[in-house]
Formats: sequence, structure tokens, C-alpha cells
Amino acid sequence: MRLVLASGNAGKLAELRALLGPGVEVHAQSEFGIADAEETGLSFVENALIKARHAARASGLPALADDSGLCVDALGGAPGLHSARYAGRHGDDAANREALLRALAGVPDAARGARFVCVLALLRHADDPLPLIAQGIWEGRILQAPRGGGGFGYDPLFFSPAHGCSAAELPAAVKHRDSHRGIALARLRAQLAGTVA
Ligand code: IMP
Repeated sequence: MRLVLASGNAGKLAELRALLGPGVEVHAQSEFGIADAEETGLSFVENALIKARHAARASGLPALADDSGLCVDALGGAPGLHSARYAGRHGDDAANREALLRALAGVPDAARGARFVCVLALLRHADDPLPLIAQGIWEGRILQAPRGGGGFGYDPLFFSPAHGCSAAELPAAVKHRDSHRGIALARLRAQLAGTVA
């Protein structure tokens, strides 16, 4: 199977390639010169559909889009849909982490609950009326200072109680399996295999 991934994020591309395995040929939309879609949705699922439809239409291939982000309880769910550009400039991970730590200054550990959210949308073609949608959520809390050198984005600030360390301290294979994206992808694969109604 060949599909186009409606994202230019190298971290996501690497995780999704690893998770989908060698049977699926994943192309970044940039390989076809496809620009990012405008993310005008009000929810992760709407934005995932907008991105996948845009890539499917432009490439003529099935398209998979991931819309993901970090929702922090003490910030009313922010940065949420705006996770990639929380500090202003799209994709500036270091600035986003600093902005998050500033926003949570003085908030005690017990009130720093957060979750990573991922919605995957797979369209077989641009006008597919029945897209496959899968959602994954990873519960944790925001650390007072970064820990670990792996992963990307907010990983060094995200403590996973289930693992007892930050997302950036996890071996890549463990993060790929247990993260919001790993959970969503396992659900999507189950749908593709017809094991989920
Ligand atoms: P999107 O490209 O609009 O889905 O932006 C998602 C943003 O959420 C990324 O740029 C990261 O800042 C953040 N994010 C999503 N998934 C992860 C993850 O697995 N680790 C760390 N940050 C993530």
C-alpha cells in the first residue's frame, strides 16, 4: 500500500513509518510539492479530515493525516489545537516549551495534569464519504523542568506516570507503542484489518 502523509513534521513521519511497518510505503506530502492545508477546524478530528482531504486531492493517493496536540487541565485545554504554534511561530518546539513552562509557573504538580491527543484520519480518496478515524489519548502531567533528550515537541516536559519518566526519556520503540499516536494507530490498524465494527 502507498499513501501520502498530510504532514511535513519529520518527527511524526518517523513515528508513523516505524509504526506502519515495511508493508506501507509512506510519502511525505512535501515529496509531491503539496503545501500544508489551512487548519480551520475547531477540533482535532476536523483538522485531521481537512489535512487528509487536501493531501488526497492534490496527490491522487490515499491520505493519512494526524492532528495532535497537548491539552493541559490548568490552562483550560490549551495549547490544544494550537500546540504547534503556542509561542507564535509554527513548529518552534523550544519556544513552545518555554511558553508552556511560563504559563504554568507556580502551578503545583498535583494541578499539572495533561494529555497528549492524536486523531488519525485515513481517506481512501479525496471524496471518500466514509473515512477511517481513530483517536488516542496519553495521560500525564507537565514537569517543572525538561527531562530527557529523545522525542520531539513537548516530550521533555511530559511526565508519564505509567512509565515513571518523561516522554523524552523513553526508548523510541516504547514511545511509539504507548503514545497517543501509537494508540490511535493501533486502533486504525484494527479498523483496516476489519477487527473493529
Ligand atoms: P499538528 O502538526 O498541528 O498536529 O501539531 C501538533 C503539535 O503538538 C506538535 O508540533 C507538537 O508541538 C505537539 N505534539 C504532538 N504530538 C507530540 C508528541 O508525541 N510529542 C511531543 N509533542 C507533540
